[in-house]
Amino acid sequence: MSWIHCNKCFLKDQNFNEILFLQCGHLLCRKCISKKCLICYKTTKYVTLPKKEIMPTMDLYFQNPINYGKKLLSILKFQFENRINLEVEGAKLFKKIKQVKENCQKVDQEIKNAQEEMRKEYLRIKKMKVFIEQTKMYKNVRKSNKDGSQDSGVHGIQTSYNTLQDTSFLLPSTVD
Ligand SMILES: [Zn+2]
Ligand SMILES: [Zn+2]
Repeated sequence: MSWIHCNKCFLKDQNFNEILFLQCGHLLCRKCISKKCLICYKTTKYVTLPKKEIMPTMDLYFQNPINYGKKLLSILKFQFENRINLEVEGAKLFKKIKQVKENCQKVDQEIKNAQEEMRKEYLRIKKMKVFIEQTKMYKNVRKSNKDGSQDSGVHGIQTSYNTLQDTSFLLPSTVD
């Protein structure tokens, strides 16, 4: 660390024995130190440089910037990869949820269609039952007429039966 020098008198000391590191961030030699920093005039504490670890927040200033840059790069890489992973996996998960939601909507529509088909079938069966009953009744009336007895209701039943001659409802209904 060839750049270390007293900020006041520019004394350089490679062994760091004479240079003091002040809490304000300035470097002063033992000759230049006083109660206040002679550069910024703040009352300040100081340590000798080999004991800089007693002020861990200041330790950063003495790190090798290249090594520190590498550490910084690995931190950025690590966090970036994790963020990307989170976003990619999150997007996949979101896509799956969307797909499941769409499938649920399809199934829901299929259930509605089936219910509608059942409703139409129910009505068709109901009409068929009426048709069968009317047919039985008509045949009975015709039989009793042939036997000679008179029934005043025969004309009404005949009309009712004729209206049921459209047997298209006997075919299965189709769902729209
Ligand atoms: Zn000095
Ligand atoms: Zn200072």
